[in-house]
Amino acid sequence: MNIILLGPPGAGKGTQAQRLVDERGMVQLSTGDMLRAAVKAETPIGLKAKAVMAAGELVSDEIVSGIIGDALDALPTEAGVIFDGYPRTEAQALSLDTILNARGRKLHHVIELDVDEDALVERIVGRFTCAKCGEGYHDRFKQPKVAGTCDKCGSTEFKRRPDDNEDTVRTRMAEYRAKTAPILPIYEARGIVTRVDGMADMDVVSATIAKVLDS
Ligand SMILES: [Zn+2]
Repeated sequence: MNIILLGPPGAGKGTQAQRLVDERGMVQLSTGDMLRAAVKAETPIGLKAKAVMAAGELVSDEIVSGIIGDALDALPTEAGVIFDGYPRTEAQALSLDTILNARGRKLHHVIELDVDEDALVERIVGRFTCAKCGEGYHDRFKQPKVAGTCDKCGSTEFKRRPDDNEDTVRTRMAEYRAKTAPILPIYEARGIVTRVDGMADMDVVSATIAKVLDS
């Protein structure tokens, strides 16, 4: 089973991918991570990528394809794969077909965690954590029981991530839409796209994804 998991930042994609890894033994292939690993391991393709990046240029599709091919070759054939952050263009989607075909694999599902942008903004902008123990809170959904005091450790200091603001969230959403827009129609034409409500409870999202994969 090979899938592409799509979703904007904050939609819970990381959590869902991790659950698929834990519960189904799938392997998450994130192009960013693979690229860094290949550069670090100084594989032939990693060295190529390193040279390109050192020259301040963007890594070509050819290099990315090579890295994905190498990563697949290093896996047991029965290991299912979650593609994360790839493909992002029509050309990459077609490359992925070639890469998979060459290895007797195919793409079974494209799952998109669908979010309501305004609700996502509310979810992200309202969150804060205890500065001491890291316990998570939310302005609307989970206030400390005693105002200004952490339920867990009693600390009175809290922090917010500077990028948890409305402008950043909306910019990230726009970037995400721009990146997925070119590839979704390709997979829609094949009838393998499923949209899952990413605003639902995490367990509900997991159960829905499981249903799709088992169908
Ligand atoms: Zn605390």
